[in-house]
Amino acid sequence: MESAYAIEVQGLHKSYGDFEAVKGIDLQVKVGEIFALLGPNGAGKTTTIEILEGFLTPNSGHVRVLGYDPIKHERNYKERIGIVLQETEVEEFLSVEESIRLVRSYYQDPLPLDDILAATGLTDQRRVRPRKLSGGQKRRLDVAMGLAGNPDLLFLDEPTTGFDPHARRDAWDMLRNLRELGKTVLLTSHYMDEVEHVADRAAVMIDGKIISEGTPQELAHESEPTISFSADTNLSLPAELDSHATRDGSHCELSPPNLVETLHVLTGWAIENNVQLEDLSITRRSLDDAFVQLTRSADEESED
Ligand code: ATP
Repeated sequence: MESAYAIEVQGLHKSYGDFEAVKGIDLQVKVGEIFALLGPNGAGKTTTIEILEGFLTPNSGHVRVLGYDPIKHERNYKERIGIVLQETEVEEFLSVEESIRLVRSYYQDPLPLDDILAATGLTDQRRVRPRKLSGGQKRRLDVAMGLAGNPDLLFLDEPTTGFDPHARRDAWDMLRNLRELGKTVLLTSHYMDEVEHVADRAAVMIDGKIISEGTPQELAHESEPTISFSADTNLSLPAELDSHATRDGSHCELSPPNLVETLHVLTGWAIENNVQLEDLSITRRSLDDAFVQLTRSADEESED
């Protein structure tokens, strides 16, 4: 029976000499989902993805991708995955369509050419040579070639690094098309907004470890909410709030561990002392802030 998971990893370790790049991670990616492996430079994302692709041998750990052990290099496995590396070589003298046709010819059951062009948004560029493509279109051609063999699972290493905002949006549309085609996608990224726009779930990796995992909403909620207001008063805040407060003139921001309790204390104090809380608002930080907060806490922990 096929597993509900396209990728199952337990206790994965990988060292380069004495340096441990991946320190015992667990990962599960469901069939049909877009999963993002996020993290700063050197976190161990590419090492992990290369183990899953079968290019690197782990030191220890259990790895199953579509039910296969990638390191055994079985032909059936290669037919079922698509790989888009950070940089792909394309033949300069072949058009978009010819490049895709060439890769299709290596596979027994490739995806129809028109479906590939449509999913990657390259239908209008089908007769164009690579050097005439924009950076974003070139990257989409890389994905088109990864998709050519009709894989069940696509690995995308940093699909939008270096893109302008417009090209990133086109790439996100393409990722959504891949989901429509029923593909499972594992992508690596430095960008939280990418996760917010396209990923079903994500794991944040720092220093060889996964420090957080969940839907974009779950990850964003790991950052504390902020209460902000302006109060024209010389009165001190109650002591239990003061320790969570940052003040700038009359403007005050509170990042409390317990939102409801803090609001209760704050509004009680304001009513009792007849203080106007101007522009009172509660904001959840964006996913980007959550990422910065998560990575900062992980750095602080590793320094302790
Ligand atoms: P980036 O976002 O920059 O691509 P990453 O999260 O993909 O980073 P990796 O490329 O997996 O990180 O690298 C993890 C760590 O392992 C880094 O410190 C890197 O310098 C180190 N490393 C990677 N490949 C090798 C290698 N072949 N030999 C020695 N160290 C390596």
